[in-house]
Amino acid sequence: MKLIFEKSVEGRQGFGIPQSDVGPQEGIPEKYKREKPACFPEASELDIVRHFTDLAHKNFSIDTHFYPLGSCTMKYNPKFADVVTQIPGFANLHPLLPQLTKGETLSQGAIEVLYETEQWLCEMTGMDHFTMQPLAGAHGELTGVMMMAAYHKAKGNQKTHIIVPDSSHGTNPATAAIAGYNIVAVPSDENGVMNMEELAKRITDETAGLMLTCPNTHGIFNSNIDKIAKMIHAVDGIMYYDGANLNAILGRCRPGDIGFDVIHINVHKTFATPHGGGGPGAGPVGVTKKLEPYLPISRVVKHENGQFGLDYDYPHSIGYVAPFYGNFGIILRAYAYMLMLGQEGLKQTSNHAVLNANYIKERLKEHYALAYDHICMHESVFSASLQAQRGVHAIDIAKFLIDKNIHPPTIYFPLTVKEAIMIEPTETESKETLDEFIETMIEADSLSKTDPDSFHNCPQSTPINRPDEVKAAKEMNTNYFAS
Ligand SMILES: *Cc1c(COP(=O)(O)O)cnc(C)c1O
Repeated sequence: MKLIFEKSVEGRQGFGIPQSDVGPQEGIPEKYKREKPACFPEASELDIVRHFTDLAHKNFSIDTHFYPLGSCTMKYNPKFADVVTQIPGFANLHPLLPQLTKGETLSQGAIEVLYETEQWLCEMTGMDHFTMQPLAGAHGELTGVMMMAAYHKAKGNQKTHIIVPDSSHGTNPATAAIAGYNIVAVPSDENGVMNMEELAKRITDETAGLMLTCPNTHGIFNSNIDKIAKMIHAVDGIMYYDGANLNAILGRCRPGDIGFDVIHINVHKTFATPHGGGGPGAGPVGVTKKLEPYLPISRVVKHENGQFGLDYDYPHSIGYVAPFYGNFGIILRAYAYMLMLGQEGLKQTSNHAVLNANYIKERLKEHYALAYDHICMHESVFSASLQAQRGVHAIDIAKFLIDKNIHPPTIYFPLTVKEAIMIEPTETESKETLDEFIETMIEADSLSKTDPDSFHNCPQSTPINRPDEVKAAKEMNTNYFAS
């Protein structure tokens, strides 16, 4: 298997950026240059302000509405976390600043933030090392699976496939495929976790590893996890923990202690910075000693004199996965968030995330079919199957909620549940907000009995009501002036 990112330790301090003396204009062939100035639309400042303010008001965001998007952890992002990123020493930091100049420390503070975040994430997850480089959850997965591949290559293992449960997040099989592995899926059992017999049948000497969310996308913690880890390790497979949403287990359970070898965390879901909207994220990856030699470069080090630096001299590293320090601003927000909450506060996070999800589950289960009626973790999965018999499907309920100023939960995922409605309230919502949501969901159920047709006109409060979603995805037109 060929690793996707070639190593390059030349260039400026090994940042992997091709160095060139050619200015921006010079390298461009004549035929690509503009002949006359670009024709930009002209408008007054006031018109521009109104235009953008109007657009901002059309935006459904966590700052304006409840956003119970399952598996996405759309929690409130405290404003102080943004304020921290505006501190001039951080905001004006250039990625190419020398780490040290004549004993002065230029980027020491930033590297120290990375160093401390690594230490804290190790403590929280039971891993031995972390890299802050990956720029999103999926990017962290790819980094982790590339390390898995490097491990097997170094050991001369012939591995062909990665095992995932049928409830897995789509990025897991996608990552395994991009890294060149075949994907072997395991069906869920009646409790919503991987069927152990079916798993056993699929583990062979060619198993490179297993990728798992735990609690999974059914919101259920797999109590067989230690057995599963033993089975995978018996064939020298790697246990991959998809820790995108860590707020169910924060301060209570460490993936490293229950047999996992590698984990990515979406700090943009678990700590600060809401997910979604395609904004920046960060997906730090932690590993146990087994995978440590393969971590990407640069790696953050603390020298004996107490100073911090970035080090590139790791011959077995999988190489570069991101430039500079990764998405530093997102790591910084997570750092500030952890610092504010402290150990006890982070534990409270998981208390509230799980309590809120169970509160909604208990109050709604008379009205909506539950996929699995257990105590759930940070999210629970309902099915609109009863409402669908009346002609009101999960998508209709989602559109109805928009008119009630509530962002729809995740629908039609996980794929294992028909008419799935996956609700994740997060720890940052008040009981009043949860009650309002619950009442609205009950109202939708009642309306599905008395006036099912009314759903098909929803939403009415938005600029566009029901776009052809397939067409919108395939023929995206984001040009404001062309419309
Ligand atoms: C969000 C999520 C991912 C992917 O994270 P991105 O930052 O969107 O790439 C992976 N796995 C799970 C379980 C997730 O919820």
